Amino acid sequence: MVSGVQYGPVIRPGKLPDIDRGSTEDVAEADRAKEGERFAAAAAAVATRLRDRAAHATGVASEVLAATATLAQDRAWIGAAEKRIKEGVPAVRAVVGAVDQFVDLFTQLGGLMAERVTDLRDIGNRVIAELNGLPEPGVPLPEEPSILCAEDLAPADTAGLDPTLVVALATTLGGPTSHTAIIARQLGIPCVVAVSGLEDVAAGAMVLVDGTRGTVTVAPDRAAAREAVAEAERVAARTAHWSGPGATSDGHAVSILANVQDGAAARAARETPAEGIGLFRTELCFLNTDTEPTVAEQADIYAGVLEAFAGHKVVIRTLDAGSDKPLKFAGHSDEANPALGVRGIRIAERNPGLLTHQLEAIAAAAERTGQQPWVMAPMIATADEAERFAGQARSHGLIPGVMIEVPAAALLAERILEHVDFLSIGTNDLAQYTMAADRMSADLATLTDPWQPAVLALVAMTARAGAAAGKPVGVCGEAAADPLLACVLTGLGVTSLSAAAAAVQSVGAKLAQVSLQQCREAADAVLATASTADARATALAILG
Ligand code: PEP
Ligand code: MG
Repeated sequence: MVSGVQYGPVIRPGKLPDIDRGSTEDVAEADRAKEGERFAAAAAAVATRLRDRAAHATGVASEVLAATATLAQDRAWIGAAEKRIKEGVPAVRAVVGAVDQFVDLFTQLGGLMAERVTDLRDIGNRVIAELNGLPEPGVPLPEEPSILCAEDLAPADTAGLDPTLVVALATTLGGPTSHTAIIARQLGIPCVVAVSGLEDVAAGAMVLVDGTRGTVTVAPDRAAAREAVAEAERVAARTAHWSGPGATSDGHAVSILANVQDGAAARAARETPAEGIGLFRTELCFLNTDTEPTVAEQADIYAGVLEAFAGHKVVIRTLDAGSDKPLKFAGHSDEANPALGVRGIRIAERNPGLLTHQLEAIAAAAERTGQQPWVMAPMIATADEAERFAGQARSHGLIPGVMIEVPAAALLAERILEHVDFLSIGTNDLAQYTMAADRMSADLATLTDPWQPAVLALVAMTARAGAAAGKPVGVCGEAAADPLLACVLTGLGVTSLSAAAAAVQSVGAKLAQVSLQQCREAADAVLATASTADARATALAILG
């Protein structure tokens, strides 16, 4: 979800017209080479157009378009289509077959790969349109500010959107990390994903999208909808003036930090009032790397992030490979249940060199930049694991902490704190493991909502352990990006909040409007609720 409120008429992306999805007649042997050339030219034209758009876009939009262009030329699915054409299958049917084949594969792989299904289907549709001499399918250009509703949005469509004309997004599908939400955040427009019943809303219908509450209301009362938009604009105006540092209205300090994945993101985060980096997801630097990067290569990357926040707190997380973030050089490929498998710190058990090399690289980057980074291990489940990690980190001169994202670790936070200097709560995984619900599943989004009182009870327990030990306890999961929830977390005793750079300002501004007493009252009240809807409403009543 991306916060903000908008009201307007619905538009829907153009579907590929009902064209011939490939005749059933095979192509004569003599014509197959020509059919292969026709396909190659169409795929190349689609990739070129996407690359051109990437060159004219900026930031995440440009990266998304470039990644889609690369997928359009990916040898695997292109090879599968060519093979079919060589066997006599007409080009359009070959594209349909090859795309279906890889959609099945990506779906089976799950996690991040499953999110590429929309990208691949989109590319298939573009190539088919090209083969039929039709314009590329995509988002229509609206005549007035409109709300784009779709089953799911292809990244290539969302990346090119004009936020003055498409003022909000809502989709039936899409997980919390889907491209739709990422692009919406960059465009600064509200977005709600995984909305049920959206398919029945016709183009032209008036809807109110509330990205803060995660709701889409069809045909709301016009005056009430306009007032909701105006109120959201007033909140946004107050937000724009906040410049840090993080504190409640009565001066209780809570550091507001940014989550980043590389030096570029860290430099972008430096443009916000973020006081440091609360989570550097190092594994995201190596998603496309086949072999373990050298210590020198790693040190360069880590130094880039440290330099961006010279003189400020930077928390580097060691590789959280596995499950939805598979790395070719780390982890276990054949697991029935990868979210419960060898991921995070567990990888170091079988491959201790990976962790040692990474700590060496972080220490080298620290020395080069004169910074004193904090390091933390993901997926810690026992005090023993924390003790071993802390020993290794200290032997490299680094300040050790661990992530609390497994309920076992929250329950025994007190014992874990005997070994480490800080804790950082990953609410995304903590919710997944507490509620026994896959964080990538749109169907289970209510269960994995960080407003779940059970998840917040574990946060409370962890924060209490930190206070008793006199050690900091931060939150670096998506929960920290929700301004209202950030106030509740503060009331639970959390000492820092780390979120996507785009959320930093709204979180800081909201916190500055409420007192510590209000935060504590809201925290107590929320812990006593029975559902996420109740929890939100209760917090809203106290925190405004
Ligand atoms: C989390 O689990 O909340 C977290 C911050 O880690 P990631 O989202 O990278 O798993
Ligand atoms: Mg996690």
